[in-house]
Amino acid sequence: MSRLLPLLVLWLLQSDPLADALKRIDEETLKAHEKFLASDELEGRAAGYPGNEKAVEYIAKEVKSYGLKPAGEDGGYTQEFEFGRGAGRKAKNVIAMLEGSDSKLKSEYVVIGAHLDHVGKKGQRVGGQVGGSNDDDGIWNGADDNGSGTSAVLAVARAYGQGAVKPRRSILFCWWNAEEAGLLGSRHWCANPTRPLDKVVYNLNLDMVGRNPDRPVDIEGVKNAEGDALEKIIMAACESEKLKATYYDHHNEAMFRSDGASFLQKGIAASMFFSYWHDDYHRVGDHAEKIAYDNLAKIGRTAFRILLGVANLDEPLKFNEDTPLRGGGGGGRQLGINGEELQDDDLAELKLGEGNGAYRVGTVAENSVAEKAGLESDDIIIGFGGKPLPAKGTLNELRRRIQGAKLGEEVEIEIIRGKERKKLKAVWPKK
Ligand SMILES: [Zn+2]
Repeated sequence: MSRLLPLLVLWLLQSDPLADALKRIDEETLKAHEKFLASDELEGRAAGYPGNEKAVEYIAKEVKSYGLKPAGEDGGYTQEFEFGRGAGRKAKNVIAMLEGSDSKLKSEYVVIGAHLDHVGKKGQRVGGQVGGSNDDDGIWNGADDNGSGTSAVLAVARAYGQGAVKPRRSILFCWWNAEEAGLLGSRHWCANPTRPLDKVVYNLNLDMVGRNPDRPVDIEGVKNAEGDALEKIIMAACESEKLKATYYDHHNEAMFRSDGASFLQKGIAASMFFSYWHDDYHRVGDHAEKIAYDNLAKIGRTAFRILLGVANLDEPLKFNEDTPLRGGGGGGRQLGINGEELQDDDLAELKLGEGNGAYRVGTVAENSVAEKAGLESDDIIIGFGGKPLPAKGTLNELRRRIQGAKLGEEVEIEIIRGKERKKLKAVWPKK
């Protein structure tokens, strides 16, 4: 007894719940998640396919083992939805909860989310497969997109579930499905929330956070809440973790191409982490061994701190009404789509001629110029303003031409839909 007593005192002095929780968000944990999620066994996790369902089962089993409460449908950890035009394909979101410690505030929710799906394997009819397969590889493993965010949210969920930090508001840990098909899972949840949407005070989204460790991570939407409370919390969290970041008041390149947009469009303050594009984006080479796990762990710990800061505020965060509600890169005039430049094999298949490029539409924003022009997801844009798009810098050129469109005048958008070529008319209204 006498020999153990000093050790007990030492332990009491050192037991800091926050430090203890943060320690749980480590490289080994993240590596183990990625090893499974980005393995060939999961076949690229395309929504509606068995590999995706394995990811759902894995996440649901993990969160249960962390002691988190189910917050999906029917007392379970999942929420199922149908998607695909009349195809009746199904996918599941996974939702777990840590109940808040403050009897008054625990009915309010802070949401952290990441999409768990990716674009599948060769032969699956999934949009977004860039570059084609090769002799050695026919699986789009999606380690960065978005195995990285999925793993980080799992690590954060474990740190809250197994650690002793008690946030005042409740925290929802969400893994969205069918993001690659147009943010479908997060949109479904926002339309059919399993907890009251008007009690959600904030969404933090992690999408593609595992690469480019030497480049400061982009944090978009630090001013998407009223006042400066959110910005202060985010900056303090980055400083504490020595995470280098570039802060954007609202969106930059990623916010409207991922699930945070679903929350913004419901008038909920949202921000996102994004560690930027790379050569393996939506290609078969997006593999687990290329992830920068040390930086990913930092991002996870920073996210933990941000959730805690927001959950413990005396007053709930409120949406900043000045937040733009759509947009791709850089602001300015928008078409209202996201998508991707087609490359190599995909371009060759279209036989557009030397030097000509194409852009495949991912999602079309509601009430956008694109929607009014009749653009649909999976349309391939090959011309804009009466001229073909170039193969090099397709998106930049498309953006440049959008900015150059004359207000109130029709602009021609040439597309390929299925096997058909069509010309649509877009108009940016004079205001
Ligand atoms: Zn993606």
